[in-house]
Amino acid sequence: MIRSAENDMSRKEAVIRTERVTKIYDSGEVQVEALKGIDLEIDPGELVAIMGASGSGKSTMLNILGCLDYPSGGNYFLDGIHVNDLDRDQLADIRNRKIGFVFQGFNLLARTTAFENVELPLLYSRQQEIGDPAQLTRQALERVGLSDRARHYPNQLSGGQQQRVAIARALVNQPAIVLADEPTGNLDTRTSIEIMATFQELNRQGITIIMVTHEHDIAAYCRRVIEFRDGWIIRDQEVPRPHDAGKDLEAGRWKTASQPGERP
Ligand code: ADP
Ligand code: MG
Repeated sequence: MIRSAENDMSRKEAVIRTERVTKIYDSGEVQVEALKGIDLEIDPGELVAIMGASGSGKSTMLNILGCLDYPSGGNYFLDGIHVNDLDRDQLADIRNRKIGFVFQGFNLLARTTAFENVELPLLYSRQQEIGDPAQLTRQALERVGLSDRARHYPNQLSGGQQQRVAIARALVNQPAIVLADEPTGNLDTRTSIEIMATFQELNRQGITIIMVTHEHDIAAYCRRVIEFRDGWIIRDQEVPRPHDAGKDLEAGRWKTASQPGERP
């Protein structure tokens, strides 16, 4: 059923397309309209920052895009697949195959090595067809520059290294899209730029990345900025000249990159 939908819809299409997507959280007495009708298209290979005040609907949007939750209304097509039509098992399956997640707090298992953390999604899902788990895990760690830390535990790694382990874990299933909810929120400026250098490198390799950030300095490394307010998109702009995180690191630019006054 998934496959036929894929064939019907996948004529050189946006990897993400939403039509008037709404989300209402209903706790009985109170209803919160977190998304009020989102039309959004994201093409393969984009690097997108989602910005907006707290409570504006960013995480809700990311959860829907990541197939963690269904929209209340409207349509969501992921890689041509009409997500609304999927049952829970199909939703989990498409999530495992197409999406990698990165979170603000890294979400690594503490008593588990970097290698085992990265390998975990392969053990949970039916990914045998994409290759040998140990080899895929080594490749993912190599892509984030952490081959030499495979046997370390999270508490033996810096915050930036832990987040790169989390990025490797997001990559190990070879997803089409990486979704990151404030991935630099717990990191200092220099480490944040290192994470953006990793994202920019992965994006150059063709991975679509959508990340939530509060910081204009971080959004400046993306190629498109979408701003949410009160459940609506109020701005959607191309960034004409995204900053190059690798060059900024070389030039020591983090020392001046973020004056406190520039932050929202
Ligand atoms: P952001 O990530 O931009 O801070 P969220 O998407 O988390 O915003 O939240 C958008 C709105 O939806 C807020 O008003 C928030 O309180 C509400 N909300 C988010 N998650 C839930 C939930 N699980 N149940 C009820 N309300 C929620
Ligand atoms: Mg949020």
